[in-house]
Amino acid sequence: MARPPVKGALIHYHEIALKGKNRGFFLKQLEANLQLATSDLDCGPLRRPAGRLFLTMGEETSWEALRQRLSRVFGIANFSPAFTMAPNLEMLAKQIEEEISGRSFRSFRVAARRAFKTFPQTSQEINEMIGARVKHISGASVDLTNPDLTIYIELLPAEAFVYFEKLSGPGGLPVGTSGTVACLLSGGIDSPVAAYRMMRRGCRVVFVHFHSQPFADRTSQEKAIELVRLLTRYQFASRLYLVPFGEIQQEVVSRVTGRLRVLVYRRLMLRIAEQIGIKEGAQALVTGESLGQVSSQTIENIATIEQASTLLILRPLIGMDKDEITLQAQQIGCYDVSIIPDQDCCSMFLPRQVATRTTHHEVEFAERPLDLERLVAQGLSPAHSLELSFPGR
Ligand code: ATP
Ligand code: MG
Repeated sequence: MARPPVKGALIHYHEIALKGKNRGFFLKQLEANLQLATSDLDCGPLRRPAGRLFLTMGEETSWEALRQRLSRVFGIANFSPAFTMAPNLEMLAKQIEEEISGRSFRSFRVAARRAFKTFPQTSQEINEMIGARVKHISGASVDLTNPDLTIYIELLPAEAFVYFEKLSGPGGLPVGTSGTVACLLSGGIDSPVAAYRMMRRGCRVVFVHFHSQPFADRTSQEKAIELVRLLTRYQFASRLYLVPFGEIQQEVVSRVTGRLRVLVYRRLMLRIAEQIGIKEGAQALVTGESLGQVSSQTIENIATIEQASTLLILRPLIGMDKDEITLQAQQIGCYDVSIIPDQDCCSMFLPRQVATRTTHHEVEFAERPLDLERLVAQGLSPAHSLELSFPGR
């Protein structure tokens, strides 16, 4: 007896990124991430038919729920609600007739592709044969350039996939294939976007937030937690470190001249984040800096700040302007949280004048009265970490 069609998601990944020796490694990670992203949905098994992935959908799963999850799994180029069945043209035609009976369309095209050229008919012959049947039962006309409905057919030796729409995936590389980075996450607009961009390049991101409790309320920490919760939808498990920075800042205020303080704060943040990063196995730190956006982000100041850490520092937003970053924050879903007013620790204890052109030597000199080692330890020891996961457990 012919096997009945099976419903699921047909997933195409970025061939180029996944080519070569690392292909197996990337695919394994992509599969693991797909399993995590859908762990609370009635889905599976996940199979790997030649060059694509197919995730069977259980009866209970709504396509909308699955669509949302898949739209956040990096490494997916595009995906479709599809069905799979035996690669028999007559049976395919019958099933397609049934599937389109509830759809209204005035024009259509059939787009058949053979993954292996051993199939007896050419793609063109398949298009014509299925096309004639569809035309006959629907009365719709064939339109190859702008049809209302496209019937996609992918033929493999042992099965055929059929679908009617292709949705864009988030692209990028599967999280976990590019190592770990530690992102300095403020409650602002930029750093969550920076974290997102690193995840999209395959990094697992650990988060470090500096707050000013007891001098400020808990808002900035609550924002950081909420932002990490939103970002965790893209990497499924996250760790967030909350570092009390207020007392450290107070000490800086009492010993460092006003115009250099922001730089000294930032350098201390980097030193503390570096220690956390090393403990977490991070290969780099990430910030949301964008060149020239504020006075602490002139090229001279960025260079001065960066000297404080020996870890590689990545700044994925360096060449973006605020409008581009804002748009991306909205797309990721972080923007509304980022704009909640809070008392950012760096805007507290801040003088009116901030030096825009500093040198490493000047700031090192200004740091001399500080016991840097003690201050770093002072930030690290009470720092505590939270674990977040998605889907929530
Ligand atoms: P953001 O929108 O990310 O707050 P920003 O444009 O406000 O960035 P700055 O305040 O100069 O820029 O901060 C530059 C970067 O330093 C931030 O993107 C972030 O990576 C890091 N940073 C600043 N404040 C904090 C904080 N309180 N905790 C953790 N990281 C911070
Ligand atoms: Mg900020």
